[in-house]
Order: sequence, then structure tokens, then C-alpha cells
Amino acid sequence: MDHKYHRRRKELVEELRNKGIQDENVLEAIGKIPRHKFIPDTALHKYAYENKAFPIGAEQTISHPYTVAFQSQLLQIKPGDKVLEIGTGSGYQAAVLAELGAKLYSIERQKTLFDKTSPFLKSLGYTKISLYYGDGYLGKPIFAPFDKIIITAAAPEIPKALLKQLKIGGFLVIPLNNNEGTQDMLRITKVLFEETNELRFKKEQFEQFAFVPMLKGKNK
Ligand code: SAH
Repeated sequence: MDHKYHRRRKELVEELRNKGIQDENVLEAIGKIPRHKFIPDTALHKYAYENKAFPIGAEQTISHPYTVAFQSQLLQIKPGDKVLEIGTGSGYQAAVLAELGAKLYSIERQKTLFDKTSPFLKSLGYTKISLYYGDGYLGKPIFAPFDKIIITAAAPEIPKALLKQLKIGGFLVIPLNNNEGTQDMLRITKVLFEETNELRFKKEQFEQFAFVPMLKGKNK
């Protein structure tokens, strides 16, 4: 039944390659994961391998495949990396990170999405992803520090708690609101200057994206 989407997935991978995604591990993960299953409206399944966002309930969306690929590539996941994701949503980005070998923790603030995505990811065989219902602004201090942190919603600011929970040399990949109504994709690296024992944050800026907002607190 799944084979009918096999060719569409390969076409999506080629499209992402043409758009500049070069990380073969990321492309391989996207070539493997049944994205249609992450989209609740089955009438939309035939479009699931187009570079589009779709509704997943609770007024949220599954990110564009290009966005997922771009953020995943920026994270440079090595097998065993401890990774924190803010915004589990449909679980698609989480599945990509798990395929890349991340030891993943993911937080979702919408209870209905959390309740749905937890059993769904397990049903696909992603049994080792740790999912939490909570406010991602606070991170997961009991499991810190993380090698990498990814935010998958539009952040109005850089959450201080998340910078704190990052390992030295680790990355935070964050779509940060700009003045144009979109987000600048940033990769922030935590650096320790040994001479002065001072922590600094190196910022790299990439292209612009459009995400749903990162909101404070939890929703029932
Ligand atoms: N990674 C998801 C993207 C879903 S959209 C996917 O692949 O489908 C972004 C998600 O971030 C939404 O589900 C939204 O509810 C969630 N979100 C927004 N603010 C949050 C916060 N403070 N903490 C946790 N999740 C948050």
C-alpha cells in the first residue's frame, strides 16, 4: 500500500536536492518516512510529497519538507547526539531526527497534538523518542545539557533557558522573528573562551522561513 507513495518520495528527495539540500543522511531519511501518515486529512495524502505545509489540528501545521530538511541539515546530527526539539506537532521532524540517530526529546504545548502524536510515533516504530507535554520555552533542564536544540515554531526571542541547556560547542537552530513578518533561520553555537572562562554565542544567519508562532505556556 505504501509503495504507491514510494515514487513520490523519491521525487521529493530530488526536489530538495535541487533546492540545495546536500546532506545525504537527511535526504535518505526523507526518502524513507511516510509523510502522508503524518497528515490527518486523508484527502490531502496525494499532496503529501509536495513541498507544502498542511493542517495537523489545533491550528498547527506540519512544516514544509524543505524547512524540515534545512533545519535537520543545520543540526549536523551525529548518531547518539542528545537533541531537544521544541514543537513536536505531527512528529514528522522528530521522525527525521530519530532516523538520523538522534537521542531525541521533544516537547509540545498543545495537549491534543501531544495525545495524538505520542502513540502515532510508537505505531511507526519510533519507540525511543521521549515526548513531553509542556512549554518549550522552559526546555527540559533535568535532561540537559543537549548537543543540539531545534525550535520548530516562530520564536519572538531567543529563549535563555534553552541557551543554558546547550552543551559547549552545541547548536541551537531557531527561526527568529524579523521585521518582515517572517523568520530568519539562525544557528547559534555556544562557545567557551578558555582564557577568560567566558561563554559566548556565535550566530550564523541563513535564509527566511514562515512558521506558526512559538507561544508561551501550555494549551489544554
Ligand atoms: N515539528 C513539527 C512542526 C509543527 S508546527 C512537525 O514536524 O510537524 C510547530 C509546533 O510547535 C506546533 O505544534 C505548536 O503547538 C508547537 N509549539 C509552539 N510553541 C510551543 C512551545 N512554547 N512549546 C512547545 N511547543 C510549542
